[in-house]
Amino acid sequence: MAVPKRKVSHARKMKRRSSVWKLEAPTNIVKCPQCGEPNLAYRVCKACGYYKGVEVAPKAAAQK
Ligand SMILES: [Zn+2]
Repeated sequence: MAVPKRKVSHARKMKRRSSVWKLEAPTNIVKCPQCGEPNLAYRVCKACGYYKGVEVAPKAAAQK
């Protein structure tokens, strides 16, 4: 049930949020199997330009 914003104390609000809010680290960051650099999952590696073991973005994209 909705409760008016100012009726909930700061302590009560933060107590509720402490259990869920930004507790875990982002899980979409994985190590590149090619070079070991941490990268976003399902993305071309920024460091070496590899994706799924295939070089999809050679020098040009890797240098940026
Ligand atoms: Zn890489």
